[in-house]
Amino acid sequence: MSTDCLFCKIVRGDIPCAKVYEDENFLAFLDIGPIIKGHTLVIPREHYASLPETPAPLLADMMSVVQRIAGAQMNALKADGINIVQNNGRAAGQLVDHIHFHIIPRFTTDGHKWNWAAKSYDSPAEMQSMADQISARCS
Ligand code: 5GP
Ligand code: ZN
Repeated sequence: MSTDCLFCKIVRGDIPCAKVYEDENFLAFLDIGPIIKGHTLVIPREHYASLPETPAPLLADMMSVVQRIAGAQMNALKADGINIVQNNGRAAGQLVDHIHFHIIPRFTTDGHKWNWAAKSYDSPAEMQSMADQISARCS
């Protein structure tokens, strides 16, 4: 538990939230600034800053909660689709340093567009080199 972490304050009840789901280890509540209405955040009660620091078993359990919320959004809101977003570090847009997943309901008519500008590799060799660098640290 971190004293000045915003999401720890929500876990403690020091800051109110629109709660969607809770259990022993996790809490889900509406994002105060929804990309689409119903946009929900899933957090562990315990404080971990981001994905690399979070113990794998806790992360595995967290994915079950993410799946549960996604299913509930599909059923309750009649969503046509769901985006899952998870930011790590300022460069990736993380503003609150308490690991969280964004579960965002999507509708064919919602008008939202991700700024997903696909780029390309200079050559197949550069692409393979990138794969090799990451692969070497996977185990
Ligand atoms: P990040 O950019 O760190 O992935 O996402 C943090 C999210 O927390 C943002 O989408 C933001 O709208 C949400 N947020 C920030 N402050 C509050 C708050 O006080 N209450 C709730 N419910 N959400 C918040
Ligand atoms: Zn925290």
